[in-house]
Amino acid sequence: MIIIMHPHVTDEEIHGVETKLKSLGLEANISRGVERTIIGAIGDERKIHKESLQALPGVDNVMRVVKPYKIVAREWHEADTVIDIQGIPIGGHTIQVIGGPCSVETQSQMDFAAQGVANAGCRLMRGGAFKPRTSPYSFQGKGLEGLKIFHQAADKYKLPIVTELMDVRRLDEFLEYGVDVIQIGTRNMQNFDLLKEVGKIHTPVILKRGLCATLSEWLMSAEYIAAGGNHNIILCERGVRSFEKAYRNMLDITAIPVLKKETHLPVIVDPSHAVGKAALVPALSKAAIAAGADGLLIEMHPTPCEAWCDADQALTPDELKKLMEELRGIAQVMGREI
Ligand code: PEP
Ligand code: MN
Repeated sequence: MIIIMHPHVTDEEIHGVETKLKSLGLEANISRGVERTIIGAIGDERKIHKESLQALPGVDNVMRVVKPYKIVAREWHEADTVIDIQGIPIGGHTIQVIGGPCSVETQSQMDFAAQGVANAGCRLMRGGAFKPRTSPYSFQGKGLEGLKIFHQAADKYKLPIVTELMDVRRLDEFLEYGVDVIQIGTRNMQNFDLLKEVGKIHTPVILKRGLCATLSEWLMSAEYIAAGGNHNIILCERGVRSFEKAYRNMLDITAIPVLKKETHLPVIVDPSHAVGKAALVPALSKAAIAAGADGLLIEMHPTPCEAWCDADQALTPDELKKLMEELRGIAQVMGREI
């Protein structure tokens, strides 16, 4: 940590900072310049609250040197993490596309969806049984019955299932029902109790970016999961709130290479919730792969106009298949495969 003192700092104030650092188990390295005195705090700064130093007399600014996250940081683990989901790798050479509807509706809808996902060449399937809806009057999901329907449909094609967990009280049932990947949605990125609980298990977790979360806040949420012992974390960029009204959210493509530098965790992109319009999903999908994403999470419905949720953004099975073919070319240019 670097502590920059005010221009007219007194010796007493400098001594005060030194004493405080000592009480926190850190050494002080004092550097007196012509205009400013700078104090370098040497030791593990992660457990220290910046604010407790910021408030001391004579202190102008306090800056961290070390990242607040550790387990998920690239600086602590150089190699890319590859997560194994029933033999399917996420984060390695192969780009994975997770396809499926926004929500589980009926057995036949999920059967047709699973067929479309497998036929397009995707290796994992998505579908929400518990839905986070803005309105309490909107369809809330089929619940546990939805998980059963989902499994029955996906098992036929040996597709591991990805589904959202909103409530910590449902975790045991998710494990009992054999959910392969737990999705923590945007609205729960900072539900710290939920993060702590999924940190105690080993089921892979897709952690979506919060609606207005910075990359640092997002990585700190991933650190919550990792700190509990679960290192099977996949980050999913799904667009952030912006001033623009022409589309649902603003896909932060820049986040992909920045995350790749900051963390060893796989990074996937959800173009469907980012743009909110099916016709625009292919362009965003291609951009994401070209920017280095390890995979995509795409909404597809057998009959989008009949979807109970997010009908505007779902691709048809044929559109998903066509997109997969187009993405193959982009993956190849990137030295990867789909
Ligand atoms: C979803 O994937 O169905 C979903 C609700 O996503 P998000 O949390 O990104 O809004
Ligand atoms: Mn959706």
